[in-house]
Amino acid sequence: MSLKIKQQERQKYEFYNGQITLEYDPVDHVYLRDGAEVPSVTTVLKIIDKSAPLMNWAVKLATDKILQSVVFPITNPEEFTALVLKAKGLHRERLEDAGDIGKLAHDYIEKYIIQQMSPSADTPPEIEGDKVWNCFRAALEWMRLHNVHWVSTERKIYSRTYDFAGTLDGIAFVDSCNDRECCPTEFKSRRSLIDWKSSNALRIDYLFQTAAYQYAIEEESGDTIEDRWVIRLGKSDGKFEAWHLESGYEEDFRAFLNCLDLTRSVKSVTLRMTEYRDRIKSKTKKRGQNGKNKSEESN
Ligand SMILES: [Zn+2]
Repeated sequence: MSLKIKQQERQKYEFYNGQITLEYDPVDHVYLRDGAEVPSVTTVLKIIDKSAPLMNWAVKLATDKILQSVVFPITNPEEFTALVLKAKGLHRERLEDAGDIGKLAHDYIEKYIIQQMSPSADTPPEIEGDKVWNCFRAALEWMRLHNVHWVSTERKIYSRTYDFAGTLDGIAFVDSCNDRECCPTEFKSRRSLIDWKSSNALRIDYLFQTAAYQYAIEEESGDTIEDRWVIRLGKSDGKFEAWHLESGYEEDFRAFLNCLDLTRSVKSVTLRMTEYRDRIKSKTKKRGQNGKNKSEESN
């Protein structure tokens, strides 16, 4: 792809009253400021290893598939090989499916919120798929119970101080519900940051993620965010599970900054060692050529 076409496809986002412009490169999935890559919140959080439970799950998925499908004695080795290979790739298939559902649910909820904010906007199209519908139903139930009034959705954020970017799911004014486990005190109209999750469980890195969004949005807008909400939308049961965060922001944001620091250190050392390896490689190559030339001379 030519550089020109690539640049045309880039979306521009302005921050801080137009003082800062970021470009989003949809091909490489990166944010750029004056041509330099800006770390995104979700990329930074990949530095936390979440693979252990996934690994167990992937192995179980593969072994279950093989044990359920294999017929003894194995008379057709080719068929058996195909089964093993299918089982090997199953976890990737499932993760892709889950990712698709999450994306469709996010897109649909976004369209719904846009319509809530401006009734003249297009009515969202009909939902395809039970799991997406369940996610939407769960989000709607949370909104109903908390008398939610939306301020923005899918907003881009950028922190000028720490140089990171991202997209938050939503900002809204939220009331307490009647469940004191969910909302320990009664309150009205708190400016809150909302993040939807369609994963099977809530993880602490979601706290770091939302703290990063909160820092950036407060830095840019000057508005104070009172609460953060990480809301898991049940794909199978259509119910929500919410982490209502009234405190802990400082600790969560510190954790995000640690991840950001570590990401930068890893990137910098990797680059240094790549250059080191390249230097050694080219020296070895040169020495090899010299040796070859010498042996040719002596011939
Ligand atoms: Zn509540």
